[in-house]
Amino acid sequence: MDFELNETQLMVRTMVKDFAEKEVAPTAREDDINETFPTEILKKMAALGLMGAPIPEEYGGMGLDWLSYGIMIEELGYQSQAVCSTVRAHISLGAQSILQWGSDEQKKKYLPDMAAGKILSGFVTTEPNVGSDIAGIECMAVDDGDSWILNGTKTWCTNGSNADIVIVIAQTDKSLKGRGLGAFIIPTDSKGYSAHAMHGKMGLRSSDSSEIALEDCRIPKENLIGKIGEGFKVAMSAFDRTRYCVAAGAVGALQQCVDASAKYVADRVQFGKQLGQFQLVQEMISEMRVECEAARLLVYRAGCLKEAGKPNTIETSMAKWYSTEAAFRGANNAIQVHGSYGYTNEYPLERILRDVKACTILEGTSQMHKLIIGRDTTGIAAF
Ligand SMILES: Cc1cc2nc3c(=O)[nH]c(=O)nc-3n(C[C@H](O)[C@H](O)[C@H](O)COP(=O)(O)OP(=O)(O)OC[C@H]3O[C@@H](n4cnc5c(N)ncnc54)[C@H](O)[C@@H]3O)c2cc1C
Repeated sequence: MDFELNETQLMVRTMVKDFAEKEVAPTAREDDINETFPTEILKKMAALGLMGAPIPEEYGGMGLDWLSYGIMIEELGYQSQAVCSTVRAHISLGAQSILQWGSDEQKKKYLPDMAAGKILSGFVTTEPNVGSDIAGIECMAVDDGDSWILNGTKTWCTNGSNADIVIVIAQTDKSLKGRGLGAFIIPTDSKGYSAHAMHGKMGLRSSDSSEIALEDCRIPKENLIGKIGEGFKVAMSAFDRTRYCVAAGAVGALQQCVDASAKYVADRVQFGKQLGQFQLVQEMISEMRVECEAARLLVYRAGCLKEAGKPNTIETSMAKWYSTEAAFRGANNAIQVHGSYGYTNEYPLERILRDVKACTILEGTSQMHKLIIGRDTTGIAAF
């Protein structure tokens, strides 16, 4: 077992850390307050090739390995979960779904522009009546000769109002449930597609979450990804990738909590002593750090399994569940360490707490991950 990062992984760490400090951190607070979508940050990321980080070079990407990609997301997550959310939806839900399941024509048509950041993407399974149980999707796709016609309402689509294309998972035959699902590429300028940004979220406020209405939305036949009946698998494989990214981003957020707390307790004096000299304060920071290291190891193991092409659904679930819950606990403790200052947006901690709460819900709730892990451990399906 080798715990050393290779040259590429170290280079990615340095480059993205530097980028995120210079380009993401300065506006993170204002972007959160104003719910500003990070368009300028995405342009700068695209200029560095980061919008296509794990996309193969033949499609215009950087061809990064899974661990390097996870490190990139971790460093973005250190500064902003909202930027992380935007990027992982585009790369891991959008582009990598086309890479894994798309035809040669689809790959050639979309991937180079996606990797270059010229096309932004989203991906949506969720509907007003459908969350964890995606086999119950109600949005319908009807075969109409040389096109598909889609009708239905989707919700919580990350990037939905800013994307150029959205991959929609829709039903073709209700009696087939999960086996009737298909994955469809919808250009967002299609007649019958409309998106409305959702406001008033607790966290991830500068990430775009949108409701989507599909009203007789006609798309060409060739916009189906894979085959009818494969939509469930397309979604599950997309979740395996983005759960990894959510976990990596949460590790970044937790590291920010550790670093901010360590700095604060060295500077702040109460009862004539540095806060760091009080054992109860040290305890909070020690717990945070160990949880951060444990979460990082789970994420890196999942990344290494992905890179080796080995099964990793359970390991990815473990990483996602543990990292996001640990980040929530860590942010809570980091606020406690900072006292009343931590309760204001002068420090990023209250934003991290609000942001990582979302990470315990999206891409499979913590409960769903426990069920997945429990089913694998006991051999008994509890859902
Ligand atoms: C910020 C944000 C961004 C998002 N981005 C996207 C996106 O880009 N695309 C997309 O498609 N969706 C997106 N989502 C939606 C997200 O995937 C869903 O919220 C998630 O799958 C949970 O569904 P739900 O909210 O409907 O909760 P429900 O499924 O209704 O669950 C409610 C509660 O019941 C529990 N529960 C449900 N079923 C079971 C069970 N069998 N056993 C035990 N407990 C259960 C859950 O754990 C949860 O606590 C996003 C959500 C958020 C908050």
